Amino acid sequence: MMKRLYNILPHFIQNLLISLYNILAYKKRYGGNYSKYFKGINQNYTLSKFELEKIQQQRFSLTIEEAMKHSSFYQKQYSKIENPNDIKNITQLPILSKEMLRQNIEQIKTIDKRKGILSKTGGTTGKAIEVIFTLDNIQERYAFLDNFRSQYGYVLGKRTAWFSGKALLSKTDTKKKRFWKTDYWFKVRYYSTFHIKTPYLKYYLENLIQFKPEYIIGFPSSILEIAKYGIQNGYHFPPDTIKAIFPTAETITEEIRNCLEVFFKTVVYNQYASSEGAPFIFECSKNNLHLEMQSGVYEVLDQNNNPTKSGKLIVTSFTTKGTPLIRYDIGDDIELSDNICTCGNNNPIVKTILGRTDDYVYSKENGKINLGNISNTLKETKGIIQFQVIQNYPESILIKLIIDSRLYNSSIEKIFVQNWRDRVGNEIHIELEYVSEIPNEISGKYRMVKNNIKHLIDV
Ligand SMILES: [Zn+2]
Repeated sequence: MMKRLYNILPHFIQNLLISLYNILAYKKRYGGNYSKYFKGINQNYTLSKFELEKIQQQRFSLTIEEAMKHSSFYQKQYSKIENPNDIKNITQLPILSKEMLRQNIEQIKTIDKRKGILSKTGGTTGKAIEVIFTLDNIQERYAFLDNFRSQYGYVLGKRTAWFSGKALLSKTDTKKKRFWKTDYWFKVRYYSTFHIKTPYLKYYLENLIQFKPEYIIGFPSSILEIAKYGIQNGYHFPPDTIKAIFPTAETITEEIRNCLEVFFKTVVYNQYASSEGAPFIFECSKNNLHLEMQSGVYEVLDQNNNPTKSGKLIVTSFTTKGTPLIRYDIGDDIELSDNICTCGNNNPIVKTILGRTDDYVYSKENGKINLGNISNTLKETKGIIQFQVIQNYPESILIKLIIDSRLYNSSIEKIFVQNWRDRVGNEIHIELEYVSEIPNEISGKYRMVKNNIKHLIDV
């Protein structure tokens, strides 16, 4: 009903409604303990590793105690474990899979739907999970995020272009080639990520140039399409306009980062979180990714659940009181680094975030090829801006490629195919298709792997 009403209103009233909606949402988000959290995180930026571990232990204890008190699921799961609230015993707690979370959500959550803030997460299986946040946790999560962005000068109210998964446009907008709505109060322009198609990119880009945002936030795959269009069509983005790009929700490759930084003449600062409320990973000014220990506990485990350097990420979050996530298998792989950063932050460093582990290619010869290995097929190549691998049959894969023809040639194609052969073996059929665009998912996000034969493969 509300949606239908919104659709028939004129553009300027829609803008006004979005501003009003934001004023109300921000009042909640930046109320309560937000300022206290923001200040605390800011002051703690240079804590020693010892001090960070102390905070982590305290918050871990509290998280477990509260989950056991308010969630019948955790109460039952932990009742036979001695001192489950001691972080040293964390490996004794069972791992929570996505499917377990989905099936037991009613027993896991600790507050009523009406008292919290809902967040829906899509799974690759298409089954959504609905988690509930307390308002206090939302305030703390925004304090973490804003703190990260503020290191690069961002504050609410700075001119920002936002590319998120919100459906904002009406038919009239599309007809008028107007793919955005503006919150004039907070100076945020929301660009639709559902209309990123070649014939429309010109309008997006020219509007961005005219809007002159200081920051771009959102799905990197959508922003990338605009950058690629700009490069291919000889646009020069005005220098000294954009201070930083903050990608959200998707894994970014080096190629994507380079393309964005070159075209928009700025720097990309990456961040990792999730709609379920995972603890944060933030990129610092020295371009290292730090695990924010004040927001949770991170474990990296191999297939037998033993600690390792590169493997699946298991998280325990300190900001999910409404739907506690304890030893949650979030479905992403990461690789840890031994390096120490010189930025002053003593949180451990991640070498790479490899992304979804349930996205893989299957070869009869070599079994499952995970996302990390798939993204490594770009090694020693040049000019591959983006690719997507689609598997509809066990015997073959189709790889769609977007290339920069100034850098790409047949010898690079050979290297790329050989990289694939090294991983999938020699029997599987590999088909390459050169395309000018790779359509996004319904959610507005880009997927590197589309495996349509998972149901045929025994896990
Ligand atoms: Zn650093």
